[in-house]
Amino acid sequence: MKTISDIIEMQQHCMALRTAGRRIAFVPTMGYLHEGHLSLLHEGRRRGDILVLSIFVNPAQFGAGEDLDSYPRNLERDEALARSAGVDLLFFPQAGAIYPPGFSTYLSVEGRLTETLEGACRPGHFRGVATVVAKLFNIVQPHLALFGRKDFQQLAMLEQMVRDGNYPVEIVAMPIVREADGLAMSSRNVYLAASERTQALALVACLRQAARLVAAGETDAARIIAQARAQLLSKPDLKIDYLKICHRQTLQEMAVVDDNSVMLLAVKIGKTRLIDNHILNEEV
Ligand code: AMP
Repeated sequence: MKTISDIIEMQQHCMALRTAGRRIAFVPTMGYLHEGHLSLLHEGRRRGDILVLSIFVNPAQFGAGEDLDSYPRNLERDEALARSAGVDLLFFPQAGAIYPPGFSTYLSVEGRLTETLEGACRPGHFRGVATVVAKLFNIVQPHLALFGRKDFQQLAMLEQMVRDGNYPVEIVAMPIVREADGLAMSSRNVYLAASERTQALALVACLRQAARLVAAGETDAARIIAQARAQLLSKPDLKIDYLKICHRQTLQEMAVVDDNSVMLLAVKIGKTRLIDNHILNEEV
C-alpha cells in the first residue's frame, strides 16, 4: 500500500492506472476506520482492480460550533486497517492543499434533496460534501465509488450530483453496518459516555419498532412516528433533531407508508449527534 498526500502526485498516479486499463474503486472517508468503512473497502476490493481509500476530515462540511477540531483521528491505526483490507493507494491530503488560499469554487446540489433533514439542521454541510467529493473524483478518477446507506441523504445527493454533472463514476450503495447490539457504526460513537451509549440503543430500537409496525400492516406515518418519538424521548439525555418518514428517492415526507418509505432520524445525546435510518419494508 502506498500513502500519498500530494494532490498532483495522486492525480498522475491514478491517471496512469486508468490509462493502463485498471478499474479504480474508490472509498472516500474521514478516517478513524470501523467495520462500516471496511465493508465498503471489501466490496471495492471485489469490484475493482485498484482500491483507493481517501482519508480527509473535510472542514467545508462542518459548521461553526461543530466537532471539526475534536473529530477522532488515528492515521497509524487506519493505515494498518487499510493495508489489511487490501487498499492499494491511500490518499491523505492536507486541508490547506484541498482548500488553498483563494479557493472559491463550491458545488451545490439544489432542491429538496439537500434542503430537508440534515440540510435543514446543518446549513452548508452538503455544499461542503458535494465540493469535496467532486474534487476527489477529479483527483482519483475512479470508475466506481462506494458509499454507505448510513448517510442516506448524502448518498441520494451524490447520486443526483453524478447524474446532473455527468461524472463517469458508478455509485455503489452499501448497507448500514451495526454493532452487535444494533447501534449503527460511526466514528463519532467514541464520544459516547457509557450511559449515553446505552441510551443510543433507542435509535435502532425505534427503527425496528417502526419496521415491525409496518410489517404488521400499519401504514399511517404519523402513528408510526409518534411511537418512535415516545421511545426516543423516554431516554433522559436524548434530544430529537428530526424524525421523519420520507420517500427513499425524493426524500419527500410521506403520510402513508409504502415500499419506498424510509425512516430517518438525527438525535443529540449529550454533546454527540447521531444519525440513523431504515427502509421500512426491510428487516433490521
Ligand atoms: P465517514 O468517514 O463517516 O465520512 O464515512 C465514510 C463512508 O463510510 C460514507 O460513505 C459512510 O456512509 C460510510 N459509513 C459510515 N458508517 C457506516 C456504517 N455504519 N455502515 C455502512 N457505511 C458506513
